[in-house]
Amino acid sequence: MLVLALVTAFGRLPEDWQGGIRSIYPVVVLVVGAVLGWRFHRSRLLLALAVLVLCDRALIHVAPLPPDALGTRALRHGIAILLPINLAFLALAAERGIFTLRGMHRAIAIALQAGALALIHTYAGTRTLGGVARALADMPTPLLDLPIVALLAFGTAAAAMLYAFTMRGTATESGFFWAILIALIGVWPSGSDVTSSGCLATAGLTLVLSLVEASYGMAFRDELTGLPGRRALQEALIQLTGTYTVAMVDIDHFKKFNDRYGHDVGDQVLKMVAARLGRIRGGGKAFRYGGEEFTILFAGKDVEDAVEQLDSVRKDIGAIDFVIRAPGRPRKRPDTPRPRRRKSSKTRITVSAGAAERNNRNSGPDDVLRAADKALYKAKQQGRNKVCT
Ligand code: GH3
Ligand code: MG
Ligand code: MG
Repeated sequence: MLVLALVTAFGRLPEDWQGGIRSIYPVVVLVVGAVLGWRFHRSRLLLALAVLVLCDRALIHVAPLPPDALGTRALRHGIAILLPINLAFLALAAERGIFTLRGMHRAIAIALQAGALALIHTYAGTRTLGGVARALADMPTPLLDLPIVALLAFGTAAAAMLYAFTMRGTATESGFFWAILIALIGVWPSGSDVTSSGCLATAGLTLVLSLVEASYGMAFRDELTGLPGRRALQEALIQLTGTYTVAMVDIDHFKKFNDRYGHDVGDQVLKMVAARLGRIRGGGKAFRYGGEEFTILFAGKDVEDAVEQLDSVRKDIGAIDFVIRAPGRPRKRPDTPRPRRRKSSKTRITVSAGAAERNNRNSGPDDVLRAADKALYKAKQQGRNKVCT
């Protein structure tokens, strides 16, 4: 998307393409984004698109005006400062729906900013607003003709997106990160209105595509463990050919564990087991089958190879000390030590696994999966903490 933005900004495009970029491209992005945002209940996408459209319209409006006029400079600078701040806010804010009180507040906040900039632009020559207009227009622009405040806003917004991406790791944050970078090219004062329209529309398209990618990710990835889920497993199973092994892994006595320590602690254990299974070697790929059951596919591997890997993961998981925080124990160390009510305890978890490979008897993926499930049952029957075939 960044390359697309750079091409529209700096490429020598034919005259009729330029007209299309100015008029058709933003409208297409807006319509597609509005429909998707509405159908997926993504108010933040709708509001981000609204911000981009407002900036686009304003920049088109000032394009034929003298660039050094007070009102024009004030408007351009105001946009360059407010655009990244608004995008970053929308990226980090919680999804609240559009026809809710919170959604309305956000829409009103955006409309107020647009109204304020429009007034400053229109009445830059008057006594009342002239001071604000001059303050905006005369900001130091040491680099790229952009006010230093705007550069700081873009830098902070992009850094916040990177941080959010490392924490949450979804397509939404990466989409906003690239959209903010692309929008920076869009508000570049030396650019033409084709540049601004093209880049702001591309920024919008990036957000729309990130919504699609995030939805795809949600459908195929298990939210709790981060492993691919059942749907992804079905996709992977139908693509298997030749030799392969399927393994089913199930946590032992997990119901008792949940009953004893609570569902939240159970969830933490599920995450840790999933993380360990996700790092299985020997070409194994782990999926969350459902509940406390996992499936591991070994494409191109026979059952002996798979059992070796499964056994090593089984031992690793069995050796992890799960620290259970006693209720009431603070997460942070208090300034003055208080007597402990109950000590944290350590506990261990074991898993059982069953593996089966494709052969003449089990020729389809479903048959192999069923055979693996039978083998898992055998492991449970034989006392658990075992891998059976
Ligand atoms: P076995 O050794 O025979 O597998 O015994 P088990 O208790 O592990 O087996 P069972 O399948 O009867 O129980 C599975 C339990 O897993 C039931 C439920 O309490 C728990 N469980 C399933 N999904 C989740 C989840 O997402 N989070 C938590 N915390 N627990 C879950
Ligand atoms: Mg089970
Ligand atoms: Mg179990």
